[in-house]
Amino acid sequence: MTTSRSTAEWQALDAAHFLHPFTDFQSLAARGSRVITKADGIWLTDSDGQRILDAMSGLWCVNVGYGQQALVDAATQQLRELPFYNAFFQTATPPAIELAALLAEVTPPQFRHVFFAGSGSEGNDTVVRMVRRYWDLMGQPQRQVIISRVNAYHGSTMAGASLGGMSGMHAQGGLPIPGIVHIQQPYWHEHGRHLSKDEFGFVAARWLEDKILEVGPDKVAAFIGEPVQGAGGVIVPPATYWPEIQRICDRHGILLVSDEVITGFGRTGHWFGCETQGFRPDLMTFAKGVTSGYLPLGGVMVGERVARVLIEHGGEFNHGYTYSGHPVACAVALANIRLIQSLGLVEHVRDDVGPYLAERFEALRGHPLVGDVDTCGMMAALLLVKDKTDGTPFTPDLGLGMVCRGHCFREGLIMRAVGDRMIVAPPLVMTRADVDHMMDLIHRCLDLTL
Ligand code: PLP
Repeated sequence: MTTSRSTAEWQALDAAHFLHPFTDFQSLAARGSRVITKADGIWLTDSDGQRILDAMSGLWCVNVGYGQQALVDAATQQLRELPFYNAFFQTATPPAIELAALLAEVTPPQFRHVFFAGSGSEGNDTVVRMVRRYWDLMGQPQRQVIISRVNAYHGSTMAGASLGGMSGMHAQGGLPIPGIVHIQQPYWHEHGRHLSKDEFGFVAARWLEDKILEVGPDKVAAFIGEPVQGAGGVIVPPATYWPEIQRICDRHGILLVSDEVITGFGRTGHWFGCETQGFRPDLMTFAKGVTSGYLPLGGVMVGERVARVLIEHGGEFNHGYTYSGHPVACAVALANIRLIQSLGLVEHVRDDVGPYLAERFEALRGHPLVGDVDTCGMMAALLLVKDKTDGTPFTPDLGLGMVCRGHCFREGLIMRAVGDRMIVAPPLVMTRADVDHMMDLIHRCLDLTL
């Protein structure tokens, strides 16, 4: 339990001791953090008592919303029974075993095995180790190169940030690590406005083939991508993109990795984003929505192509984390997945609230500041433009996003700005009435930005 303090007291203590992730420490000290003290459903409360609609599900993770008693009960019971034991050296705990089996049930049929980690970043570190190990075991140790995309986000560890394509992250700490190369992202506004979106999907997928041929097909181990780029600004690729990526990977025998850390567990209207986008990955990273963020957990689903080789020919896999298969996190994940099933949340997103969110975002095209909208299940983005009538060429960041974000902050809405893309990824439990409420707030903030 924490002590009760005023906002000013929290802020002073925070600035004195807490180095926040992805934060300019000077401006944090000058402005002070917003201290979130409680949450329920889709609403947060801050230390001043202001209610805030959380249209970002925490950090893309609170899929079932806040305050779900079943998850609290699962954690409490497991903490009492067995708060920790590891999965190293031929030991296991019931929640980790049961979760592995349930994940095999809800993921696409090629997945029967899971490797647990503590987060999405750790999951992607595991991907790097695993794909390289696979090719060693296949007698092709020269296949080391992993291809990823500009503006992708795959985490913050050395391997995760190297797989990611965020230039700001590469600039600090000597990244990327060797053997990771990037191709351009499938962002139509920046690279394809002279083409139809479908034509552009083929063009953008061909950048992968060009890179494979440049590196040498016998040197490429894998391609990794988010089905919908999340942190990059909810970049929804054209429908033609992923099926063509699949064909290219198949043609060259390259492993296809889907980073489902955001798109997993119902967010896109299927259990996993690869199902929405129509491709069949060999490996799949997950985190966030697996526990709805109530406790940290991540991992990699390992398809049979890779699992068979690792299991039958791999010997000991010299890799793992203290918290791989943490029993309390796994117990919460079990309760969370069962709740997603019993509430029918995947169907709710696919058939009801997802299409409704898309309809309401489409209507925003009428707003003078909105140049385009993109949606996929419970992820949505709008592109802010200065003047959509004058044919001004697309510029990635006019600075409008930060202005709009400031208004959201004051109006009690968590909506994120990525350049001039304003994005949301609200809890999947939202009702149509909740969407209406969120859209009223979005309208108000857009009008204030005008
Ligand atoms: N992969 C994707 C697609 C993500 O969006 C994130 C986090 O936002 C990660 C990986 C890293 O996950 P974590 O922050 O749990 O390490």
